[in-house]
Amino acid sequence: MMEDSQVRIAVIGSGYVGLVAAVCFAELGHRVVCVDNVEAKVQALRAGDSLIHEHFLPELLAKHRDVNLSFTTSLADAVRESQAIFIAVGTPPTGQGDADLSYVEAVACEIARSMNEYKVIVEKSTVPVYTSDWIIRVMMRNGIERKDFDVASNPEFLREGTAVSDFLHPDRIVIGADNERAIELLRKIYAPLASGTYYKSADAIPGRCSAENPASLLLTTPKSAELIKHASNAFLATKISFINAVANLCEAVDADIEDVAMGMGMDTRIGRQFLRAGIGYGGSCFPKDVAAFRAVANQVGLDFNILEEVEEINKLQKNRFLQKVRAALWTLRGKRLGVLGLAFKGDTDDIRESPAIDVIRALQSEGCTISAYDPAAMQKAKADLGDSIQYAGDAYEAAQGADALLVLTDWPQFATLDLARLKTALRYPIVIDGRNLFLPATMQEHGFAYVSMGRASISPIRELADDRPLPVGQTRNSR
Ligand code: NAD
Repeated sequence: MMEDSQVRIAVIGSGYVGLVAAVCFAELGHRVVCVDNVEAKVQALRAGDSLIHEHFLPELLAKHRDVNLSFTTSLADAVRESQAIFIAVGTPPTGQGDADLSYVEAVACEIARSMNEYKVIVEKSTVPVYTSDWIIRVMMRNGIERKDFDVASNPEFLREGTAVSDFLHPDRIVIGADNERAIELLRKIYAPLASGTYYKSADAIPGRCSAENPASLLLTTPKSAELIKHASNAFLATKISFINAVANLCEAVDADIEDVAMGMGMDTRIGRQFLRAGIGYGGSCFPKDVAAFRAVANQVGLDFNILEEVEEINKLQKNRFLQKVRAALWTLRGKRLGVLGLAFKGDTDDIRESPAIDVIRALQSEGCTISAYDPAAMQKAKADLGDSIQYAGDAYEAAQGADALLVLTDWPQFATLDLARLKTALRYPIVIDGRNLFLPATMQEHGFAYVSMGRASISPIRELADDRPLPVGQTRNSR
């Protein structure tokens, strides 16, 4: 028996976004069928394997699987059963930087072939402006009358690592639709979050929203919704590159980026988030979304040059880190390096576009051997790097006998490692921290040579500390 508040939903694509969305829609009381065209994925999900590292995902999967959440490879069956169809397939970059929408188009064609009644097709994937128009065109080219469907944009803002709580406690829910019928259905889907009823339930997933302070819903047009997602990611990437550029300036003038970022972030107009200096952004979203947003601007005859600079700073940041490794170790051929972190950021097993992997490959090409540890991403890294590196059982094993230890991912647990034990494990007590996880003063107390991003290096040996680029016209002795 369907309750009045329940919507029949199909989610196409069972990856980081699709799976989380499907599980969360089930948590909101809807009847959900989640589709993927990779048979092995569907089998694993049916068997209760949550496949990705996300807090609360295994619990919610266990709670709803075979109750109001099912998995299938049959897109046609899922479409026929559903009132709303969320497209959550990948939108990777093409060689030219714009988004490859062929997966979205393929899904739209298949939806058209399976239509049996009015449905709302919802873009959940991150797509460029005009995609909703294209989906409408594809549906009509495949013989579906315009009155039998609507297309809405409902971009997803979840962050990997906190995806479930981000989904259920969103900063905002953006609904881009230009038709009352579609808006009404999407309102119904998100009603438990927007009205706050979800947060009253005793076993609600905890997060920032509450019954008194429920999720905000922003209604707009499909085009504006599409732009909101691209513009948000491009802005966040800009924030990261900006703080990295400031970090480089800090190094040149003997200032401390952590203090500078703190002072900037305390201004509520700026905010503290995404002001962490490091080896740059990665992941499956920022690099491709910045490139795609630039491409969108170019296609309509506008230059978005600031984004070119954002990308350039991000690329150079990895080189700056490699330069620090060279400056600390002199020659690299034959050096053994311990590496902490393979994922593109902490709290996820995702290694797509991970700066850590890029840095490892660059060091390998210079003749280093690598022993790495990551709390969640080892399996995925193995599929990429194969046996070219050693995979350690923990951080101390990664450090064992290494000429230096490199921190490449901001896993919170790395910050609380036993430093005395790490020092004993290392061949030389050198830590090169691409994520500023440690305090220089603490590292100094423990007798490490410590190099980080945008802060003065410390070393028991004076020369190692002086790896900062010199201002034009100055020599090391004139300082
Ligand atoms: P993903 O690669 O993890 O998942 C995509 C899934 O779609 C895969 O499992 C794939 O097998 C499946 N798929 C592809 N074609 C299919 C088809 N024809 N039928 C059924 N299944 C099909 O990707 P993701 O990280 O979940 O990202 C999906 C979209 O969401 C992208 O546009 C991305 O930019 C956007 N997004 C991602 C995040 C994130 O943090 N990962 C956050 C917000 C938005």
